[in-house]
Amino acid sequence: MNSLHLLIDRDACAACDLCRENAPNTFEIDAEAKARVINPEGDPRDVVLMAADSCPMGAITVHDAVTGERLVPKG
Ligand code: SF4
Repeated sequence: MNSLHLLIDRDACAACDLCRENAPNTFEIDAEAKARVINPEGDPRDVVLMAADSCPMGAITVHDAVTGERLVPKG
């Protein structure tokens, strides 16, 4: 369990593929050429956080599913 809640702004996604490259068990690029979550528990927590933070469009928001704290983007 990585206890993360993931949200992708598909309008903002530029299909650069970075999130899938960094966390291939969590994200995929779908038939509409947009990122989507295939399994929020697919990769370790630190890997998913790094992958979300790597998005050049800031399209991925991550909250801690237990505490509700926003982890990506910070602040
Ligand atoms: S890293 Fe961001 S812009 Fe790139 S595919 Fe993933 S969600 Fe889309």
